[in-house]
Amino acid sequence: MSVLDEVLSANDRYAAEFGERSELTLPPARRFAILTCMDARLDPAKYAGLTEGDAHVIRNAGGRASDDAIRSLVISYKLLGTREWFVIHHTDCGMEFFTNEIMRDLCGQSLETAKLGEDGFTDVGSGGGSPEAKFIDWLTVDDPEQSVVDDVARIRAHPLVPGRIPIYGYLYDVKSGKLLDVPGATAAGRPTE
Ligand SMILES: [Zn+2]
Repeated sequence: MSVLDEVLSANDRYAAEFGERSELTLPPARRFAILTCMDARLDPAKYAGLTEGDAHVIRNAGGRASDDAIRSLVISYKLLGTREWFVIHHTDCGMEFFTNEIMRDLCGQSLETAKLGEDGFTDVGSGGGSPEAKFIDWLTVDDPEQSVVDDVARIRAHPLVPGRIPIYGYLYDVKSGKLLDVPGATAAGRPTE
C-alpha cells in the first residue's frame, strides 16, 4: 500500500467515527497555543494531553520563533483568544546538525536528500542544485536551551504580542517523553503587565 492509500484509508476510519467533533467551535477551547518542532517523534497531542478543539499547535523545523510562527501566534490571540503560549524545542533536534553555510552548500550542490553520517550531512547528488538557499535563514540551533530562551525572548519583545500573555519555554526529551523546564526561558516569558 502506498503512503497515499494508507493516509486516505486512515482518514476513512477517522471520519467514520467523527461524531460530536463536528460540533467543535473555531476558537481553541483551552485557550492556549504551542509552538514546537516538526520532528516526527514529537506528538504534541500526546505529550501535552490535547484533543481536537483544545489548542493551537504551530510547528516548523526547530519550533523556532520565525516571522511566520509569530504571524500565527498573533492570529491565535488576536482573533481566536489564546491566553498562554508554550515554546517547546527538544533534545536531539536535527536543527543542531547543520548551519546556514552547510545547508546553503548542500542545496547548491543538488536537490537529492543529503546523507547524515558521523561528520554531519554530505551531499550524494550530482549537480542540479540552486543558490536560492543563500537567501533563506534556516534558523538552525547551536544550543537547544539557548534557542528556547532566544525564541521566548523574541516573542516576548514583539510589538504585536501583549504583555499579559505568559510564554513558557520547555525542552522535550526524546529519550523520556518528559518536558524539561528551561528556567531562563520561562523567566524571559513572564507577563509584563
Ligand atoms: Zn527538531
